[in-house]
Amino acid sequence: MIFNEVDFDTYFKKYPSTDGFFGKYGGAFIPSELKAAMDEITKAYNTICKSRKFIDELRRIRREFQGRPTPISHLQRLSEKVGTGVQLYAKREDLNHTGAHKLNHCMGEALLAKYMGKKKVIAETGAGQHGVALATAAAYFGLECDIYMGAVDIKKQAPNVARMKVLGARVVEVTDGLATLKEAVDAAFDAYCREYGDAIYCIGSVVGPHPFPMMVRGFQSVVGIEAREQFVQMTGELPDALVACVGGGSNAMGIFSGFLNDPVDIYGVEPLGRGVSLGDHAASLSYGSEGVMHGFNSIMLKDGDGSPAPVYSVASGLDYPSSGPEHAFLHDLGRVKYGTVSDGEAIDAFYTLSRLEGIIPALESSHAVAFGIKLAREMEKGAVLINLSGRGDKDLDYVIERYGIK
Ligand SMILES: *Cc1c(COP(=O)(O)O)cnc(C)c1O
Repeated sequence: MIFNEVDFDTYFKKYPSTDGFFGKYGGAFIPSELKAAMDEITKAYNTICKSRKFIDELRRIRREFQGRPTPISHLQRLSEKVGTGVQLYAKREDLNHTGAHKLNHCMGEALLAKYMGKKKVIAETGAGQHGVALATAAAYFGLECDIYMGAVDIKKQAPNVARMKVLGARVVEVTDGLATLKEAVDAAFDAYCREYGDAIYCIGSVVGPHPFPMMVRGFQSVVGIEAREQFVQMTGELPDALVACVGGGSNAMGIFSGFLNDPVDIYGVEPLGRGVSLGDHAASLSYGSEGVMHGFNSIMLKDGDGSPAPVYSVASGLDYPSSGPEHAFLHDLGRVKYGTVSDGEAIDAFYTLSRLEGIIPALESSHAVAFGIKLAREMEKGAVLINLSGRGDKDLDYVIERYGIK
């Protein structure tokens, strides 16, 4: 399929380019001492993704440890409630071990670390979800695991800090600056600069310098491959529309990658938080502009002086001032359309899905559900497939305290 002059038959061979660009987005804007380390990771990744042994091992892990394939559920009562005849479906990444899609790339990254002979994995975490997934993978493979986390986040996310520690990870408290995610990223990168001989840095989404956006997409593509096959088997057809929430964009790239070359409308959903003013949302593709942060060029939300703007969303996993470079590329190309959902709409969808389907979605995933419902109301017929990136148990206390039982 050719779309705005990009041939999607050969898309994955061409994007990213060998130096990590999706059009003008991506690349590797990093200190020179890290260039060699990134090249080493790129080379190892390019080798293992063609290695029969590695692929078989990852498939076995996905089946025996992660619980893959995850099913697709027909959301029958929700479809009836929408009432237009449009049928809604969910790809159940909430049923992945640890409750979200993040383990798909963490298991891949940790297996890569093993293959490269590294002893340790390093990462930062904000809300702790990526830290827990990586600590899980590290325990499975017998790797050391250092998770850098802001002191403020450590206080806020006590259950995830406990999980990481129980899993044997070292949680390193970062007290610089505002002591949240940005400082944790800086501290983790500094540590990696010192330790890259023994360690690999494991990024939590399709962000960061090349090769991470390519590699994380590769490890998440299992979601799209499964979903396409399962959906066709269930219904005899492709879905008409596909919906996923976008923070950094890994769950979205995972499912989108299976359908980019199909006549399927694809939607990424960004968090509109409390509203359109800068600081009240994290809808970077919808309201941002081109810029470099955390080692890659993409579309980002900027402050007056061009640095990353403070962002907000009720869903801490979507609370990031940029998105992966491939999303910026697909946005400009028009192949994927990006829309927004507010905190309030996401909370409504959280309750709607829980009550009608018996599935408590993560607040991140609730954004995709809310958008899927809006879309199904506007369509006359067809089917909408929503990527349900994770389960909502982690959000229960917060939702009940802040919004009460609806
Ligand atoms: C972290 C997280 C996200 C956001 O990350 P992406 O890289 O944009 O997918 C979405 N949903 C859940 C459940 C998460 O934990």
